[in-house]
Amino acid sequence: MGWVTEHHPDPAGLASCVQCGLCLPVCPTFRLTGRETASPRGRLQAMSAVADGLAEVAPKFEEILGFCLGCRACEPVCPGMVPYGALLEGARAEIAEQIPSLGRRVRRWILGRIVPSRRALSLITFLLRLLQQLRLSALVPGRFRRSVRGIRRLSKSPLRSYSSSDAPATVGLLLGCVQEQWFPSVNTAAIELLAMAGHNVVVPRDQTCCGALAAHDGHANVADCLWARNVEAFANADLIVTTAAGCSAHLADALGNRASDITTVVARAIDDGLLPILNPTGEAVVVQDPCHLRHAQRVMAPPRRIVEAAGYQVLEIDDAGMCCGAAGLYTVLQPEASAELGEQKAARIRGLGSTVVASANPGCEMQLRAFLGEGYRIEHPVELYLEAIKRSSSTTNVAPVEMQH
Ligand code: SF4
Ligand code: SF4
Repeated sequence: MGWVTEHHPDPAGLASCVQCGLCLPVCPTFRLTGRETASPRGRLQAMSAVADGLAEVAPKFEEILGFCLGCRACEPVCPGMVPYGALLEGARAEIAEQIPSLGRRVRRWILGRIVPSRRALSLITFLLRLLQQLRLSALVPGRFRRSVRGIRRLSKSPLRSYSSSDAPATVGLLLGCVQEQWFPSVNTAAIELLAMAGHNVVVPRDQTCCGALAAHDGHANVADCLWARNVEAFANADLIVTTAAGCSAHLADALGNRASDITTVVARAIDDGLLPILNPTGEAVVVQDPCHLRHAQRVMAPPRRIVEAAGYQVLEIDDAGMCCGAAGLYTVLQPEASAELGEQKAARIRGLGSTVVASANPGCEMQLRAFLGEGYRIEHPVELYLEAIKRSSSTTNVAPVEMQH
């Protein structure tokens, strides 16, 4: 039957693969299995076979594409500049359309109705907080238990103050659904640092989920609807910033330079002398690269710049940004492969000696906490930085920082 939706993989994108195989060594699923069908090249061949009418969108095709993390580590090394992430989303949209299942329908409902609803997510957060307080997390069903173990100790989300002025917005903050409910101090740190750097920050009331999770799971129409709402909500923003790498990659794909990850904006403010560089503390922090920052957006230097400006020495994991296995819904849909990658990442971090880890994506943070266990402090680089600025101000009582220029 071939492709049936408007979202199908772009033929020119598929044709740009010259099958050189340079992507194989960086692909986590190929490294785990050694199978060609678990490699970027194999997956692209499977898509081309459907496009050429040689294969169907059938369960085997679903299995091949379903095992992909969507980490996009195959993109930066590709000489043909194959847009793998976009092709994968197109293929998954076809799978969702041609192989309907109850599980997929439920996920579509959750990603389209529950995750974007602040009220519904607040209720889930309340229940999770209750489980944490009563120490009943063990009651959570098997494949969700590990994710729940990785959630921070939950407190009430702050009530954001929304800009009501008619002043032209400079930076609009996309809060992120899970980020705002489970990691609110990351957004708080972002707002404080942006304001400290002189930006006019607005948090539009009518914003919603960015739709990244829905798009990755093949629900392109759901993602499009959510996107349309955000386009309206952020109409007055010159730049849209978000604190979750998964969201910022999705925004960057759609908006290019009009969207940015918070790490890029804060690092630029440090370079411009708008934010301070603190004196070295002598302590070291492990920097973990979320795939959607390092591979999808090619952003590597900014988180390191922020950690260094906070006075810490950067420790590298040195695994070429191998995926930690979080990858959106992957922990639930492919628990074994996800666990194997999580174990590998945790082992490397343990070997570095520091118990402080900077991670710029909530999914990665949860995965790292689940596998590193107690005794590790895992925070977003902007949280570490803001906390260091505040600590420095309170201990010195004088201008605590060395400003550039
Ligand atoms: S590196 Fe790029 S061109 Fe080469 S096989 Fe992989 S996807 Fe195809
Ligand atoms: S996105 Fe990641 S897991 Fe999927 S083919 Fe590319 S490198 Fe492999």
